[in-house]
Amino acid sequence: MIISVASGKGGTGKTTVSTNLAYSVQDATILDCDVEAPNAHLFLKPVIKDVVKAHVTIPKVDEKICNLCKKCMDICQFSAIAVIGKSLLVFPELCHSCMGCFEVCPEDALIKDKRLIGSVESGKSEDLNFIKGILKTGESMSPPLIKRVREHQRKKVNIIDAPPGTSCPVIASMTGADFVLMVTEPTPFGMHDLKLAVEAVKLLNIPYGIVINRSGKGDNEVNKYAEKENIPVLMEIPFDRKIAELYSNGEILAKEPVWKRKFKDLFNKISKLAEKEAAI
Ligand code: SF4
Ligand code: SF4
Repeated sequence: MIISVASGKGGTGKTTVSTNLAYSVQDATILDCDVEAPNAHLFLKPVIKDVVKAHVTIPKVDEKICNLCKKCMDICQFSAIAVIGKSLLVFPELCHSCMGCFEVCPEDALIKDKRLIGSVESGKSEDLNFIKGILKTGESMSPPLIKRVREHQRKKVNIIDAPPGTSCPVIASMTGADFVLMVTEPTPFGMHDLKLAVEAVKLLNIPYGIVINRSGKGDNEVNKYAEKENIPVLMEIPFDRKIAELYSNGEILAKEPVWKRKFKDLFNKISKLAEKEAAI
């Protein structure tokens, strides 16, 4: 079972939900795919046992063989390779490692080189398996790193803490999931970004539901929208001073039995909805 916890915008409580959900379920693995700003570790305080550098493949030209035919340049959709005068230039930061240039080169003049994009840490937080991707500072190519993080998915329960937004890194964190849990807040901004996130999930054809964080703080528009669109609201976390204090102190809410039960209930509801969808 793979549950991707997403949100249209940052700061809605996505990590609160993913960490507490993972903490409340047996045999779970949490995968922090918010690789530009991972913060699940602040709450789960894992013991890191392994750190592996993550690279992507980029082309490097063998100038002795290259005949400057430009076939590689013509196929590259990202302008990452160019023939200028009598030289072939590679722009590593633009390369998406699609391997197209290697495929079309008639002379086998391209050699596989690698470029560091970040690292993947793995460890344990009590019984929970903990995986975190950390994108290198200044690096923009996060989907390949998210893919590396997701290679650590296990057979049982996997909770993905997705990046905020609706762009490629979010899609990389949701593709192949059994369920997408969208965390939002009852404000006009939350509502706006929730609608965008719903459109993205619909394209992927994955069942989804909503958690409303800081419920009671703003208006009732998210509930009205969910009812109109027939999207299940699976949990509401109240706007509460004690919860805010636990969050700001980096504490897990589910260490309190009442919240552990609520997050277990949330997991059971997700399982049922995912199973129902799989049976269709
Ligand atoms: S691997 Fe793909 S993106 Fe990178 S230079 Fe070659 S064609 Fe362009
Ligand atoms: S396709 Fe191969 S031979 Fe042609 S310019 Fe590119 S690297 Fe050189």
